[in-house]
Amino acid sequence: MAERKVRVRFAPSPTGPLHIGGVRTALYNYLFARQHKGDLVFRIEDTDSNRFVPGAEEYIIESFRWLGIEFDEGVSFGGNYGPYRQSERRDIYKRYVKELLDSGKAYVAFDTPAELEAKRKEIANFQYDASTRMGMRNSLVLPKEEVERLLAEGVQYVVRFKVESDEDVHVNDLIRGDVVINSSILDDKVLYKSADELPTYHLANIVDDHLMEITHVIRGEEWLPSAPLHVLLYRAFGWEDTMPQFAHLPLLLKPEGNGKLSKRDGDRLGFPVFPLEWHDPKTGEISSGYREAGYLPEAVVNFLALLGWNPGNDQELMSMDELVQLFNLNHCSKAGAKFDYKKGIWFNHEYILKKPDAEVAELFKPVLLEHGIDVSAYSDEYLARVVGLVKGRVNFVKELWEQARFFFVAPETYAEKDVKKRWSEDTPRIMFELMDVLRGIDDFSSKHSEEIVIGWITEKGYHLGNVMNAFRLAVVGECKGPHMFDITELIGKEETLARIDKAVRTI
Ligand code: GLU
Repeated sequence: MAERKVRVRFAPSPTGPLHIGGVRTALYNYLFARQHKGDLVFRIEDTDSNRFVPGAEEYIIESFRWLGIEFDEGVSFGGNYGPYRQSERRDIYKRYVKELLDSGKAYVAFDTPAELEAKRKEIANFQYDASTRMGMRNSLVLPKEEVERLLAEGVQYVVRFKVESDEDVHVNDLIRGDVVINSSILDDKVLYKSADELPTYHLANIVDDHLMEITHVIRGEEWLPSAPLHVLLYRAFGWEDTMPQFAHLPLLLKPEGNGKLSKRDGDRLGFPVFPLEWHDPKTGEISSGYREAGYLPEAVVNFLALLGWNPGNDQELMSMDELVQLFNLNHCSKAGAKFDYKKGIWFNHEYILKKPDAEVAELFKPVLLEHGIDVSAYSDEYLARVVGLVKGRVNFVKELWEQARFFFVAPETYAEKDVKKRWSEDTPRIMFELMDVLRGIDDFSSKHSEEIVIGWITEKGYHLGNVMNAFRLAVVGECKGPHMFDITELIGKEETLARIDKAVRTI
């Protein structure tokens, strides 16, 4: 068989905001597609109209735009295999349902919900399968004329897949190897419902993967139980030669304890489980998102990439391009990946460090505006240098304000414990002397003013720590912050003198 071009898909159901686990699935598909110079398809699986949530599709598209995960074709992207929204493909599915009916691989069933309920009461662990189907109301049991009459009368029905019993079904999974299950545990799944003229997930998923020439199905572990049925469906259609390779990704687990990561874990421990903030259209509830919480998209991508995969060494910081190079489905783990949200915060810190100061400064501007700072009064260079001096101390851009406020406003108050420790009776006199020294400095650059001031302190025999801490207290308002003379260079001579003067008069 000729090599097929790699084609993968991300196929969410628009039932609400995209969970962070879904983002990871999409990311792995993206990395795999790029690495193999293949295509990534964006398909919307909206055949369950009861669970449709308005706005979900737009939310998903916006999430990937923010993260830099690009699709080659699909809903909103176009392409030659459309339409890519399953609700627009009804006629296609009907053809394939008919094909299965004609070949005897599927049958029509008329059992009403009440009849099914009665069976469940009558038979413990009732399952609609080879052992029970002959006792039900379906086209395998009823006379042909009766079936035709019911259909002609417009009685509602479903189409069920006829699963042969006691056969070992092999799912060849790139991560899990050969997964074998016996067909007897499968039920005759509903493939189509006359009531809404729509197929179920299983049929639509298989038909579309086939028609869209998907070569690899990379999806979450929660879909592994469906895979044997999917294998049987490929076979029923005679498509086994082009059946995609499966890869079921490990679950995302709670940060602590056992079990699947849930929204409640995020609420309890204070981290988002959604890429973007989500406003529930029904309840009005707002759920936090990584974007609004101040994460950089690059950091989120890097963090997620390592939840279930690693490059085979301990390298952690990887750009999207590096991930594309290094990603390998065979190195994905079978075991669930603990959602270490603190690691996500660490990644954000690292990406703020890596990002050029000027770019971080752009992100800082809205924060400054929020704090009432007239950003236009400062040059981009000033802002970038401020950022450069303090960004090592923050995990989020918004935290820059706490670290850098004194670059924009003179202190209003002075930290009490620092005053107690660093401001003595003698301090005002020394501060006046310091002001004289500073006044005499023409080149107010960090290096030069440091030389002069330290020279003066040494010459006078003053205590270096005491003088410098009082100086800092006057300019910053507390005894912390970056290098003192970097601060004074940036705020300038006038402002420095004014702040010392004010401190001497206030403290
Ligand atoms: N519509 C399914 C979902 O919501 C797709 C599962 C699959 O990838 O086969 O995730």
